[in-house]
Amino acid sequence: MPVLVMKFGGTSVATLDRIKRAAKRVALEVAKGYDVIVIVSAMSGKTNELVGWVNETSPLYDAREYDAVVSSGENVTAGLMALTLQEMDIPARSWQGWQVPLITTSAHAAARIEDIPNENINAKFAEGMKVAVVAGFQGISKEGRITTLGRGGSDTTAVAFAAAFDAERCDIYTDVDGVYTTDPRISEKARKLDKISFEEMLELASLGAKVLQTRSVELAMRYKVKLRVLSSFEEPSDNAGTLVCAEEEIMESNVVSGIAYSRDEAKMTLVSVEDRPGIAAAIFGPLSDAGVNVDMIIQNIGEDGLTDMTFSCPTDQVLRAQKALNATKDSGALKFEELIADTNVAKISAVGIGMRSQSGVAAKMFKTLSDEGINIKVIATSEIKISVLIDRKYMELAVQALHDAFELEKAS
Ligand code: ADP
Ligand code: ASP
Ligand code: MG
Repeated sequence: MPVLVMKFGGTSVATLDRIKRAAKRVALEVAKGYDVIVIVSAMSGKTNELVGWVNETSPLYDAREYDAVVSSGENVTAGLMALTLQEMDIPARSWQGWQVPLITTSAHAAARIEDIPNENINAKFAEGMKVAVVAGFQGISKEGRITTLGRGGSDTTAVAFAAAFDAERCDIYTDVDGVYTTDPRISEKARKLDKISFEEMLELASLGAKVLQTRSVELAMRYKVKLRVLSSFEEPSDNAGTLVCAEEEIMESNVVSGIAYSRDEAKMTLVSVEDRPGIAAAIFGPLSDAGVNVDMIIQNIGEDGLTDMTFSCPTDQVLRAQKALNATKDSGALKFEELIADTNVAKISAVGIGMRSQSGVAAKMFKTLSDEGINIKVIATSEIKISVLIDRKYMELAVQALHDAFELEKAS
């Protein structure tokens, strides 16, 4: 039987009624003759609540116990989905990550999938099971501990299953009906894209467009998974949603294809560090050892042998960064006068493969922000993206202004 992977995000399984609605979608695909692997998220809000409980109990928590707690939301929805399908006379059972087993690295809270042996689930399909409901987001390490794949990780579970079972397609059901030129919740002019290239989706995701987890796009690109994003609230249709596909499959696109934002950025400044060889290694080595994901970096011009070093990292890693840098200072390996954390910033990025061949995008972006009176604090660029860090209070204004400036409401 051909296999189909269907992933339902938190809002699509937020209540028993919504689980029923999702189960009806699954029934439609079973009726077409598919063996279906359903990946479920936790009910919306659940994972946030669990993360909150962990932080309240232990701010610098043991990540193994964090995973034990935050993975639990998916167990509930997997069981409920299997029960709902059984009530509809569809042979189904639930699988937690360790039962599959979905084997991951032991990088707790950000584990990577290493292997998904398909024997156990295939044996059940061979016995007549029609739907395997798998708890997304979670796995098991070689040490036998429960792991999670990072926030939004059920998308990655879904794509990894599609690759492991050679699925015909991987459908990601969410609360918007596809991938837009920017978050439709921020700009009402956002336009739904019929197709988007893996490369652009990868950048948008990694720059904050949480509609797909970055790693899921990476896997889909590597294993050539046919990946579709669509809404579980719309009537079923064959060409619904957005197809994430190879660049060659897209005939035309704008120079900039999307604007992403991330409000979870913090700007950290080390004041008066020595301006000497090895200083960057003395700062970023300990940060990396502490698991801090540094993104943008700027070193100011030095004076009197001293300089300021600024970097950005996710807001929830500020505590870890402070601890690592203060410990390095205490050990004598690094001198600085002060460490300033600014958590009132946001990152705004313009993404498009057209930037490879067209110049002027950066200039237009900077001019647009300056016309709105928005000060740019840090800039980073790569082949197909430009990112800036700005005050968070201007985030929505910046997204809307850039969406207008690059005329994203119009198709090319
Ligand atoms: P799920 O719970 O289904 O995984 P998420 O909340 O993780 O859903 O992702 C869907 C959300 O992503 C949407 O509600 C939307 O606000 C946001 N989003 C951000 N950028 C985009 C974009 N470019 N296109 C579509 N949605 C986007
Ligand atoms: N429930 C997890 C989260 O909220 C995983 C997911 O929904 O993809 O991050
Ligand atoms: Mg998600």
